[in-house]
Amino acid sequence: MLDLSRARDRMVKVHVGRRGIRNREILQAMREVPREDFVDPGFEEFAYEDGPLPIADGQTISQPYIVALMIEMADVKAGDHVLEVGTGSGYAAAVMSRIVEHVYTIERHPGLAKSAKQRFEKLGYRNIEVRTGDGTKGWPEAAPFDAIVVAASGPGAPLALQEQLDVGGVLVVPVGDDPDLQRLLKVTRTGASTYSEEDYGGVRFVPLIGEQGWPEGDKLAE
Ligand code: SAM
Repeated sequence: MLDLSRARDRMVKVHVGRRGIRNREILQAMREVPREDFVDPGFEEFAYEDGPLPIADGQTISQPYIVALMIEMADVKAGDHVLEVGTGSGYAAAVMSRIVEHVYTIERHPGLAKSAKQRFEKLGYRNIEVRTGDGTKGWPEAAPFDAIVVAASGPGAPLALQEQLDVGGVLVVPVGDDPDLQRLLKVTRTGASTYSEEDYGGVRFVPLIGEQGWPEGDKLAE
């Protein structure tokens, strides 16, 4: 059995902490969650490099620094109810689940949703609910959310997600029509029908495919 705890501590210190993530809860959660359990078999030794890795269905487990940045932007804290769109491997949901009260996460590929669920069960992470479906429509029965994190990039910030934020809640979402470079946005609900927007710079994500994302088969969605 590989012992990767030292590599994990080093990744958190070098690739996350030294790049500017200061939130102690996020750093601690990343020290606790075994990323090697979220990568595909054969990729364990690369689990603590600061890069995305391929997972099933042509998708990726996001780069650790970007996972930390998005969670920091979402301003999550104890007691929060958070929605994630794009479960993928389940790693980001697992990290958030160590900080907040409850994580709802939606994945469009049933196989990925199933494996993520099995990982959460194996690790005993009981405050995460996984659903298969189109996350651009949100999870209305569980709304409003304190934060929503979208791990795939769409043409804009989905309206349904903005409407499912609590007042003061934050939506973190990559947007843009260039498949190689999108903008990472933080949308804050400032009132019943008012929102403010901040741009956190360039990122590269897999496409958000759905009713309020890109249509399936679009060239951006390949
Ligand atoms: N958060 C993930 C992790 O920690 O491994 C990484 C997610 S990966 C970069 C993006 C995921 O979004 C993919 O698994 C993709 O299938 C999913 N996705 C794309 N469009 C979606 C949609 N409309 N609803 C739900 N999931 C979607």
